[in-house]
Amino acid sequence: MMQEQETILKAEELKRSYYIGKKPLEVLKGVSLEVRSGESVSIMGASGSGKSTLLHVLGGLDNPASGKVYFQSQSVYEMSGMRRARFRAQNVGFVFQAYHLLPELDILENVCLPAMALPGREDVSQQAVQLLEEVGLGERIDHRPQELSGGEQQRVALARALINEPDIIFADEPTGNLDSKTGDKVLHYLFQLVLSRGHTLVLVTHNKSVAERCERRLVLEDGLLGR
Ligand code: ADP
Ligand code: MG
Repeated sequence: MMQEQETILKAEELKRSYYIGKKPLEVLKGVSLEVRSGESVSIMGASGSGKSTLLHVLGGLDNPASGKVYFQSQSVYEMSGMRRARFRAQNVGFVFQAYHLLPELDILENVCLPAMALPGREDVSQQAVQLLEEVGLGERIDHRPQELSGGEQQRVALARALINEPDIIFADEPTGNLDSKTGDKVLHYLFQLVLSRGHTLVLVTHNKSVAERCERRLVLEDGLLGR
């Protein structure tokens, strides 16, 4: 049984700067956050406010300069690089603004790809077909990404993010490249899949109406997270 109130993700005082020449650009100035298992949280902020930087740090993709990220009380950046990669494959799903599908693979192969990082998960094609059916693309499994529209490609990316049944999904402006009608359809599938399976969702957007679909809304401004 799932415990709704359990903390799944905890960030403490995250700091991250970029260095261009000598002058540091402070992007995260001490971000703290707690996410409970099964909840959906949006992080809104202007373009350039550090949303992608924060999501990458939270998802184990980018070391913070200081501060800690705990996933189910494991300290993510105290793991070795290899363990962290395994941890990500098992526990984390990512959806990016630009889909990031591999053009030389058909969409079924694209969805199966993250399973290859895990032992004992050689044959997930049945599960991948099921996920593609759930996002309305069951008839398209042997198509290449470039034969699909942007919204369809993002639905493939959703299926790919879910193939390893991760506990938490990070979505970075998942509708940022789409018109509002197509974006709404992608969000419909995103929330349907995430909620029906009890995944936790952290969604980053600059769009208020997208943010409002989440149970809890936070704002990233001047390097800090507020309400
Ligand atoms: P957002 O996703 O909110 O648009 P980002 O996290 O992408 O913001 O970027 C935050 C700030 O950091 C921006 O000013 C951006 O130009 C800068 N930035 C992002 N990545 C790099 C990088 N690799 N090198 C230098 N500056 C970067
Ligand atoms: Mg961004």
